[in-house]
Amino acid sequence: MADLIRLTAAELAARVASGDVSAVEVTEAHLARIDAVDEKVHAFLHVDREGALAQARAVDDKRAKGEPLGPLAGVPLALKDIFTTEGVPTTVGSKILEGWIPPYDATVTKRLKAAGIVILGKTNMDEFAMGSSTENSAFGPTGNPWDLTRIPGGSGGGSAASLASFEAPLAIGTDTGGSIRQPAAVTGTVGVKPTYGGVSRYGMVAFSSSLDQGGPCARTVLDAALLHAVIAGHDPLDSTSIDAPVPPVVEAARAGTAEGLRVGVVKEFRGEGFQAGVMRRFDESVALLRELGAEIVELSCPSFEAALAAYYLIAPSECSSNLARFDAIRYGLRVGDDGARSAEEVTSLTREAGFGPEVKRRIILGTYALSSGYYEAYYGSAQKARTLVVRDFARAFEQVDVVLAPTTPTTAFPIGERADDPMAMYRADLCTIPVNLAGIAAMSLPCGLAPEDGLPVGLQIIAPAMADDRLYRVGAAVEAAFRARWGHPILEEAPAL
Ligand code: GLN
Repeated sequence: MADLIRLTAAELAARVASGDVSAVEVTEAHLARIDAVDEKVHAFLHVDREGALAQARAVDDKRAKGEPLGPLAGVPLALKDIFTTEGVPTTVGSKILEGWIPPYDATVTKRLKAAGIVILGKTNMDEFAMGSSTENSAFGPTGNPWDLTRIPGGSGGGSAASLASFEAPLAIGTDTGGSIRQPAAVTGTVGVKPTYGGVSRYGMVAFSSSLDQGGPCARTVLDAALLHAVIAGHDPLDSTSIDAPVPPVVEAARAGTAEGLRVGVVKEFRGEGFQAGVMRRFDESVALLRELGAEIVELSCPSFEAALAAYYLIAPSECSSNLARFDAIRYGLRVGDDGARSAEEVTSLTREAGFGPEVKRRIILGTYALSSGYYEAYYGSAQKARTLVVRDFARAFEQVDVVLAPTTPTTAFPIGERADDPMAMYRADLCTIPVNLAGIAAMSLPCGLAPEDGLPVGLQIIAPAMADDRLYRVGAAVEAAFRARWGHPILEEAPAL
């Protein structure tokens, strides 16, 4: 059984389809792995053993009847606890939703189930996806499987850690400012933020609606593409969902080439705050792409300097509005409802008890930025800066097909190191946030280990809106070249657990 957890999703699906192994056996192997290691890793908030086995049995029954199976049927997956799951708890890493059982499935959840993908459980995350380390979870931190004393990134640290610890071959994350790509980078896995509107937000608990985007996480580029194809596509239940064909991501991942490609390197993404080993691996990746036949173009995107500040006005502003629905009246936690207190008092006591410090900080910041008299100075300026970032990318993509950048300035930092320093925490997303502001697509994939600490480094590939397939075409070429040279960091240098 042990070797089943080392296989890729594509290999597992092929073995299930051929009858070599049953979906139930594959699921049991992963549940056994979770039993063995999750006490240390804490990737999961909830393991749905019965639900997973029932889904696996359904796949096996379908196969026995000779019915057609989807390309990932029978493959287990770890779902970020921000997607609603009918009958299965959904907490968003917050006490305010503790004990809530959603009465419906998110569109992403529905599509996973329809594809025969087996949902193992719900993964840990920073409360309401606010954070870069998973330390803001109300249910305790997740460890990085490469070194359990370090952060697995955030907010989707649980999803990334489940992949790196071989508890699941596939996972789903959400990326508002980097929460898929940054955890992928620091755990040596692959994570993709699709074009905004590419994957439905229906049933995905809202943080910052103009930035939030669900996407695939995996250990290989092809696995991420296969999962992307399952969850993407138009959804009438999400008004910002793009009504156009999904870019041909699987074909691109299978083609894997960088020949003749124009690749931009943004000169602003280096300097102070960037770890030497991260930049060394980045420079090697640029050299590798040149060897693979790409033309390298140096670019300047001066407005990126304002991106972090703009994000930390826009995201809190939207969150202050989105989180108003947690009022103790409709669902979730209710504190102080003794019959004597007013509804306002109960709401206020519940929000005081139910939200953690980072969520409160953002609600206060956002409410302030949107208040009359300050609106133009803060929110208005941030929107102008956002437009400048969009224009910098538009100019870049007149000259190049994709932009290359480090995913994070540093490798995984120790748990606790930045917990009391929000500014240091926010800087973890320096290289990922501009992509969300522009609504475009990006991938992080492993590009080796940093020489100074032996921890994974992520390479970020950025493509224009609705050109998500370019990420996979280049990503697969880079992955194959790395593999030929050094071996795959995760598949062959598995962290000891
Ligand atoms: N770390 C960023 C934040 O705290 C991004 C989070 C995310 O992408 N969900 O807002």
